[in-house]
Amino acid sequence: MSDFVKSLMAGVKAKNPAEPEFHQAVQEVAESLDVVLEKHPEYRSAKVLERIIEPERVILFRIPWVDDQGEVHVNRGFRIEMNSAIGPYKGGLRFHPSVNLGILKFLAFEQVFKNSLTTLPMGGGKGGSDFDPKGKSDDEVMRFCQSFMTELSRHIGPNTDVPAGDIGVGGREIGFLFGQYKRIRNEFTGVLTGKGINWGGSLIRPEATGYGAVYFAAEMLGTRNETLEGKTCLVSGSGNVAQFTTEKILDLGGKILTLSDSSGYIYDEEGIDREKLKFVMDLKNLKRGRIKEYVEKYPNAVYTGMDPNQEFNPLWNHKADCAFPSATQNEINAKDAQNLLDNGVYVVSEGANMPTVPEGVELFVDKKILYGPGKAANAGGVAVSGLEMSQNSMRYGWTREEVDAKLHQIMKSIHKTCYDTADKYGTPGNYVNGANIGGFIKVADAMLDQGVV
Ligand code: NDP
Repeated sequence: MSDFVKSLMAGVKAKNPAEPEFHQAVQEVAESLDVVLEKHPEYRSAKVLERIIEPERVILFRIPWVDDQGEVHVNRGFRIEMNSAIGPYKGGLRFHPSVNLGILKFLAFEQVFKNSLTTLPMGGGKGGSDFDPKGKSDDEVMRFCQSFMTELSRHIGPNTDVPAGDIGVGGREIGFLFGQYKRIRNEFTGVLTGKGINWGGSLIRPEATGYGAVYFAAEMLGTRNETLEGKTCLVSGSGNVAQFTTEKILDLGGKILTLSDSSGYIYDEEGIDREKLKFVMDLKNLKRGRIKEYVEKYPNAVYTGMDPNQEFNPLWNHKADCAFPSATQNEINAKDAQNLLDNGVYVVSEGANMPTVPEGVELFVDKKILYGPGKAANAGGVAVSGLEMSQNSMRYGWTREEVDAKLHQIMKSIHKTCYDTADKYGTPGNYVNGANIGGFIKVADAMLDQGVV
C-alpha cells in the first residue's frame, strides 16, 4: 500500500469510525487509483478523491409507523447523496435489519463508479432503512413505505435524486413509495425507477441486474473464445437478482446448481430448469416463502441450513465453472474464495454489491480467473433505471426487445471500458482496476470542470 493510500485510509477510519464496509470499499478503489493519481497530479492537487469519499449530503430521519395490532414502531431512514458531478443522485433503497450508515455509505460510494461506467448521466446515491419487510403484512409494508416517503419526498425529485429498489425493496414497495410521493407532491414524475409497467416503469427493469451480470460473464468468457453453453453455475440468493441471473443463464445454455436465502441453500444436481425457476419465483415473490420449500417440491435436491458457526459457506464448495454471488455483501470469505478455485470455478460475476472480501478478491485476481466485480457486473440494473428515466422524460416506452438490446450493448461497453482500462494502466485482465479507474476518470474530469464544489 502506498504512503498516499495509507494516509488517506487513516483519515477515512478516524473520520468514519465503525463503518468497516465503507472503509473496505474506499480502500479497494484507492489502491486501484494510486497509479492514476501519480499520472495525473491535477486530480491530486484538486483533492478529487478526498472529495469523492465525502458524501455531498447525508439525510437521516425517523420513520414512525403503526402495525396491524395498533402498536407503534420506530425505524431509522437514510439517504446518502454521494456525488452529483455527472447527473442526479441515483441508487437503490434497501430495507433490511442490517442497514446502517456505514453499509449505505459503502453502497453509495460504489454506486458513483458504477453509474459512471454505464455511460449514462447519473450521479451516485443510496438509501434505505433498518425496517424488515419479512413477516409483515402488505398493509404494514404500505404504512411503513408511506411514512418513509413522507420525509424522503422533501429531498428527492426527478432532476435531483431518483431512488430505486435493492434488498427488500421490490415492485410492491416501489408502488407504495411512488403513491405517497405523488400524493404529497401532486405530480406524476419519474422520481423512482422500478415502477409498474402500467405507470411509468420500463420493460426489462426487473430482469436487468441479473441479465446484465450474465451478459458480463459472457463477455469475459468471450475474451477466451468461450461461451456459457454447457457451463455449470453456482448462484446465491433467490431474490430479484438471483432469479433473473438464473433465467439468463438458462437462455445461454448454462446449468444452475444452487440458490439460497439467508436461512440456507439448495443444491440440485439435475439443474434448476425453467419450471423449477417458476416455482422459485412464485415461492419468493408471491408466497414470500423460504427456499427450503424447494426440496419439498423437488425431493432430489438437497437443502442445507445456514450454520453461523461454520467457517465457510458450503454453497461455494461444489464443483462448477462459474459463480454468480447474488445475495449480499461479503458473502464470499477468503476460505470460500479458495474453495471456489479448488472446485474449478474460473468465472465469477458479481450480481450482488461487494460480495467478496478483499482477501478473496486478491485470490481471484492473483489466479487470473475471469473476475467481474459488482460495480461493473451488476451495473445493468441501474443502466435500465437510467433508460427508465429517459423514457419517463420522453413520455414514451420502448419495447422489451429495444430495452434488452440497449442493456446488452451497455454491458458490452462496460466490459470493454474495464478490459481496455486495465490494459492501459498495466494490469491486463484485472477487471477490478479496470472498473475502478474507468468509473473514476469520468467523474473526476467532471469535478475538475465544475470547480471546487
Ligand atoms: P432481494 O431482496 O430481492 O433478494 C436478496 C436475496 O439475498 C434473498 O434471497 C435474501 O434472503 C438473500 N440475502 C439478503 N441478505 C442476506 C444475508 N445477510 N445473508 C444471506 N442471504 C441474504 O434483493 P436483490 O436481489 O435486489 O439484491 C441482491 C444483491 O444484489 C444485493 O447485494 C444488492 O445490493 C445487489 N444489487 C441489486 C440490484 C437490483 O436491481 N435489485 C442492482 C445492483 C445490485 P432472505 O430472503 O432470507 O433475506
